[in-house]
Amino acid sequence: MLTNDELARWDRESFFHPSTHLGQFARGEAPQRIVTGGEGCYITDRDGNRLLDAFAGLYCVNVGYGRPEIAQAIADQAHQLAYYHAYAGHGSEAAITLAQMVMDRAPQGMARVYFGLSGSDANETNIKLVWYYNNILGRPKKKKIISRWRGYHGSGLMTGSLTGLQLFHAKFDLPLDQVIHTEAPYYFRRPDAAMSESDFVGHCVAQLEALIAEHGADTIAAFIGEPVLGTGGIVPPPAGYWPAIQEVLDRHDILLIADEVVTGFGRLGTMFGSDHYGMRPDLITSAKGLTSAYAPLSASIVGQRVWDVLARGTDENGVMGHGWTYSAHPIGAAAGVANLKLIDSLGLVGNAGTVGAYLNDRMQAALGDHPHVGEVRGEGMLCAVELVADRDARRFFDASEGTGAKVVAAMLKRGVIARAMPQGDILGFAPPLCLTREEADRIVAVTTEAVAEVL
Ligand code: PLP
Repeated sequence: MLTNDELARWDRESFFHPSTHLGQFARGEAPQRIVTGGEGCYITDRDGNRLLDAFAGLYCVNVGYGRPEIAQAIADQAHQLAYYHAYAGHGSEAAITLAQMVMDRAPQGMARVYFGLSGSDANETNIKLVWYYNNILGRPKKKKIISRWRGYHGSGLMTGSLTGLQLFHAKFDLPLDQVIHTEAPYYFRRPDAAMSESDFVGHCVAQLEALIAEHGADTIAAFIGEPVLGTGGIVPPPAGYWPAIQEVLDRHDILLIADEVVTGFGRLGTMFGSDHYGMRPDLITSAKGLTSAYAPLSASIVGQRVWDVLARGTDENGVMGHGWTYSAHPIGAAAGVANLKLIDSLGLVGNAGTVGAYLNDRMQAALGDHPHVGEVRGEGMLCAVELVADRDARRFFDASEGTGAKVVAAMLKRGVIARAMPQGDILGFAPPLCLTREEADRIVAVTTEAVAEVL
């Protein structure tokens, strides 16, 4: 067996890690952790640490680690049929069963589900479907996509462009010109402190209307948004935001894509975030919670009005040329079936609602009045603590100080993993949906201690 030092050296010399400071990592100046196991809300590493994972990996291990039911389903599928493609009407029992289970859980008005591998590719699929749709409808100019600043939709060419965070654009020549960005529904960072929540919703709507007027509704195909902004800071929308946006989109015949990669399959205490906020999406993007990350799988869920046009398009033009070797991979599908059954049998959607509310209440009680906490916010099993230099003036820390990252490091020393969100000093929490109240208490206690240590 390799020693820890040997493995760490191979890691530095051979492994190109995603979203990592490459130079520092290669020189051994950046953190390295070799994860070896997991159970419930905890992971273990090769140095013998046992850590409470308050971010569920990358908000994806929704049922928690080490579930034997899913491991068994994956093993059974691998033995029976590890792979066959899904092109031209082929499929596996697992993929067909999962499709039916997803449609049973999807919001009203959805017609079919297309399986890929990641949140990014599911968004790429949805964008291509929107373009295809407008081409079939004879509207070749109607192609631009509106996304929000601080939205996160992946890091491919198109999805990285849709993402509205500097880190994912800088030095990559993104965004592409079919993508335009509008205001994020981030009330805490509203442009004028005197604005009420409903004034701010009016402001977001006015910004959207202005963008549509500038570009022309006949050039805009769709609006994409996460029900709750995730990587951009874990920001639930102000009350009334989604119905107001929906009204504008309907009036201009612009499709709505709900990016539910984080919120799909229970995280907000409802099966989908669209249900939670009364959104009426034409397409839904999901991944993470679909398999709880036990195997890679994504789902692009297509609404009836889009589906009807796609079907007509293939009648007129023949086979739709969109697919991957691994679309609807049987092992991912088997993991998905076992995962969705477990979510039901353990009542995890309900637990996300109740224990998530408990976590948010306790965090608010512990830190809501702290002079360096601007806001504690969340929804379901999502929570954020936004750190500020001056609470009353809503003045932020200089980004170069890395205040959020320092607090996250102080938490890690105490055995709890939170995430320093990439833009702003925001502590992010998205634990597995099976979190207990005792584990929520520990997260809050450790956060409070770490904030006290750093600030
Ligand atoms: N959409 C949202 C809302 C996400 O949070 C993410 C990933 O965090 C993605 C898309 C991209 O998913 P993936 O990393 O699986 O490509």
